[in-house]
Amino acid sequence: MTRAHMADPHLVRKVIEGREDDIRPCVGANYCLDRIIQGGMAFCLHNAATGREETMPHTIPAAPAQKRITIVGAGPAGMEAARVAAERGHAVTVFEAADQPGGQIRLTALTERRREMISIIAWRQAMCDKHGVTFHFNTFADESDVLSTNPDEVVIATGGLPHTQVLTDGNDLVCSAWDILSGDVKPGQNVLIFDDAGDHAALQAADLIAKTGARVEIVTPDRAFSPEVMAMNLVPYMRSLQKLDTTFTVTWRLQSVARDGNRLRATLGSDYGDMTRDRLVDQVVVNHGTRPLDDLYFDLKPLSSNLGEVDYDALTTGGLQDLRKNPDGRFRLFRIGDAVAARNTHAAIYDALRLVKDL
Ligand code: SF4
Repeated sequence: MTRAHMADPHLVRKVIEGREDDIRPCVGANYCLDRIIQGGMAFCLHNAATGREETMPHTIPAAPAQKRITIVGAGPAGMEAARVAAERGHAVTVFEAADQPGGQIRLTALTERRREMISIIAWRQAMCDKHGVTFHFNTFADESDVLSTNPDEVVIATGGLPHTQVLTDGNDLVCSAWDILSGDVKPGQNVLIFDDAGDHAALQAADLIAKTGARVEIVTPDRAFSPEVMAMNLVPYMRSLQKLDTTFTVTWRLQSVARDGNRLRATLGSDYGDMTRDRLVDQVVVNHGTRPLDDLYFDLKPLSSNLGEVDYDALTTGGLQDLRKNPDGRFRLFRIGDAVAARNTHAAIYDALRLVKDL
């Protein structure tokens, strides 16, 4: 119940009021324990107000006037933006390219141990439904879709796509960790995973591949592996991976991949000198984070009154966005989450809350 109250400090009040369905569920991600132990701050993965009560609201205040707010993308950032905007009383429209919400969380939740993560999205979907948010799924929104909603505010939360083009040669011979997690690419039998993002995706992919009986080597240029996966979260991965045929190699960077007969020759280099090592494998997976999917943002930018600019001083101190750069602009335009830069779920949700609570 400690974590349950961190996810929703108003849990008891909501039970007393018969609003059990409004309770934000703890998804067991243990981000809170990791942030306490490693950073000294009691933050919850999907309640960005917990631990920030002096600047972030747990109960969203009503807006002084209703606006039309259009959000593109229904991953964690877009769904939090939609929830907060709707709870403020705005008329909210969400466009999403996939047939359901979730974005990267939907991929994460495919792993059995992390399947509860989907409640991050399911709870927001329920809150949005309760407040009358309009969703358009299977819609890869363009400029005309957005303009057809006649918006006062537009929030681009389109996320990113895996960026694997990091090699001097052989970029076409590798796949991404997402390809493995989604099932789009079948795991090989002797696999090198190059991970310089250091997040969950590499370890999830390694676990999935090694459980098929394959041999997996995880290579990172860092001096420690998986720096973005903190101590509590690392334990279940290591319990699983160390029983399987997996090894970790630190301080080596994948430089290139070439065909060698019916195998792949992966050449590793070092940031500390001109040393190289070769590996012969049958599959190379690259986990290098995502690149922002931001075309629509740049299309809309010249039409907006703020020219798409976020006042970051105001954003980071909880202040109002008040930039007016284009008097002819018909709406304000903002960009949040991985559509700005690849970060984690908590950062995406925090971006949305701290921006939209004042729109
Ligand atoms: S970080 Fe995760 S485990 Fe901790 S309270 Fe939030 S949802 Fe629960």
